[in-house]
Amino acid sequence: MKKDQRNFHPWIFRAEIAKMEGEFEDGDIVNVHLSNGKFYGVGYINTKSKITIRLLSLQPMSIEQIIDQRIAEAIRRREVLPVGREAHRLVNGEADGLPGLVVDKYRDYLVVQINTLGMEKLKGLVVEKLKKYVNPLGIYEKSDAPTRLKEGLKESCGWLLGTGPEIIYFEQEGLLLAADLKGQKTGAFLDQLHNSRLCSAFAKDRVCLDVFSYTGNFALHLLKAGAQSVVLIDYSERSLSIAERLLRLNGFSNYQIVQANAFDWLKENSRFERFDLVVLDPPSFAKTSTSKDSALRGHKEINLRGMKILKKPGILATASCTQVILEQEFESLLNDAANDCKVLLSVLYRGGQGLDHPFLLEVPETRYLKFIITEVRRRY
Ligand code: SAH
Repeated sequence: MKKDQRNFHPWIFRAEIAKMEGEFEDGDIVNVHLSNGKFYGVGYINTKSKITIRLLSLQPMSIEQIIDQRIAEAIRRREVLPVGREAHRLVNGEADGLPGLVVDKYRDYLVVQINTLGMEKLKGLVVEKLKKYVNPLGIYEKSDAPTRLKEGLKESCGWLLGTGPEIIYFEQEGLLLAADLKGQKTGAFLDQLHNSRLCSAFAKDRVCLDVFSYTGNFALHLLKAGAQSVVLIDYSERSLSIAERLLRLNGFSNYQIVQANAFDWLKENSRFERFDLVVLDPPSFAKTSTSKDSALRGHKEINLRGMKILKKPGILATASCTQVILEQEFESLLNDAANDCKVLLSVLYRGGQGLDHPFLLEVPETRYLKFIITEVRRRY
C-alpha cells in the first residue's frame, strides 16, 4: 500500500495500492503490506473493481480459519438478538466481517447471496461452514444482484446443498410469512420485519394502505394488529398472488389487492383523504450516485402523494432503501413534501434496518435503510 498507517476500512481502493507483486488471479486471497513492508492483512483481490481488495482479517490466518470463525461469530451475535427465531439474517456482509456475503435463514433453509468474485471463489468453504454450524435441510444460492456485473460475475441461482420448496413459509410472532426464492432480495425483506411490527402499534381499527407491498409483510402485520382494512399496491403479479395466499392462510378477508404502478395509482387516487395509515416502501430507484437525483425526485413524489391521501391527522410510515440517499437527505425531502402538501410532520420513530442487519460506522454504505413513522397533521 502507499501508506505505512491506515484506519481500518475493509475496502482498499485501487488508488491506495502502490504495487502488486507475485502471481495471482482475480478473486484470489492476497496478503497486504504497508509501505514500510509490515504485514497489514489478508483479503481477496479483484483488479477489475475499483474496490480492489476487500479485507478479511488483520491477522495472518488461513482462509479456512477466517471463514469458520466469522460464520461462528455471526451466528453467536444473533443468538441474543430479539429477532424472529424462524427467520433472520445470519450474515450481513462487511458488518459480520464477510464482505460480499449475505446469508438469510428461513426456517430449515438458508439462502445465500454472493456479490463479489472473491466471495464467489470461497463459496464451497462458506457452504461447508454453514453446514457445520447450522446443518440446514437446504442451502439455496440467490445471487442475482446487478452489482455482480461490476465484479465480472453473472447471475447464479440454484440449490447448493439439498433441495427445498420455491416458497418457504415461516412463522413470525404468530403470523405466517414467506420467502419467495423467485422473488426479490433473498426472497423476503427481513430488514423490514422490525419496522412492520412497529407500525402495527398504530393499526387498530384503521383504514390502511400498503404501497409497494411485495408479498404483504406490512399489510399482514397491520391486519394482525386489528386494522379495519388494508389496500395492497404492487405491480408484481407474482408477489401479489403470494400476498393473497398469505392473507388467506392467516385468516384475513378485509383486504383489497391492486396490481398497479404505484406512481399512477397514487396520482389517480390522492385527491381524496381516504386512509388513516399509509406505508411507503419503494424500491431503491438508484443503484449509483449518478441516478441519485431521480431517486430523490421519485421519493419526494411518492411521499407527497402519500401525505395527500392520508386523513389528517394520519400516520405515514415511510422507507428508503437507497444507499446513496443519506438519512438527512431523506428527512429533508420528506419535509419538502410536507411543505408542498401544507402539513406538519411530527416524527414518532426514526430507524432503519433490523437488528440482524448490523452496519459499520466506518462504512456508511452498509447503513442503507431509512425508516420513519410520522404523524401527518394540518398546520395549526
Ligand atoms: N414492503 C415490502 C417490500 C417492498 S420491495 C416488504 O416489507 O416485504 C418493493 C416492491 O415494490 C417490490 O415488490 C416491487 O415489485 C414493487 N415495485 C417497484 N416499483 C413499483 C412501481 N412503480 N409500482 C408498483 N410496485 C412497484
